[in-house]
Amino acid sequence: MAFIKKKPKVVKIPASFEKLVTSEDVLKFAAKKGIEVDPLDVSELSVALGIKTYFEPMEGDNSGSLKKDKKTGEWQMTVNSLHHPHRQRFTIAHEIGHHVQHGAFKDEFIDTNFFRNGDSNRIEAEANKFAAELLMPKDKFDAYLEVSSKTEDVAAHFHVSSMAVRIRAKQLGYEGHNL
Ligand SMILES: [Zn+2]
Repeated sequence: MAFIKKKPKVVKIPASFEKLVTSEDVLKFAAKKGIEVDPLDVSELSVALGIKTYFEPMEGDNSGSLKKDKKTGEWQMTVNSLHHPHRQRFTIAHEIGHHVQHGAFKDEFIDTNFFRNGDSNRIEAEANKFAAELLMPKDKFDAYLEVSSKTEDVAAHFHVSSMAVRIRAKQLGYEGHNL
């Protein structure tokens, strides 16, 4: 018997995960399950994905978390119920992003403010991008801008925060004060 040196625990993204599950894949899944997609019912979607979803008041800037129960293997999502419903939707979409894109190699995600430091590492940036795409698909976003390009109108239409709208607009190459 030889001793084997234990490797330090770091979150490494396996090469096989380069091909991520896209927001389009998940939207198709939602439609197939008969879930409202316009705007997307993210709570129903997380349940359909097998995630137990809880809404609880949390302290400070905590948005939510996603954890895998080590014994049962069950995924549990917790969302800060004190936040505005539009922010809660973004939280759920972000955690769904972690679930489908990162759940195979990491089993705990704890999130605070997505936009302040969320893009500081790759998996947070991916979950944010996924959430924005899921809640504001490109074709629907482009189409709605023909109706109104006021940030508040777009936010109300997609049930998201103004901040989320501005970030999505930037991702899609829009600019201007009106948005
Ligand atoms: Zn996250």
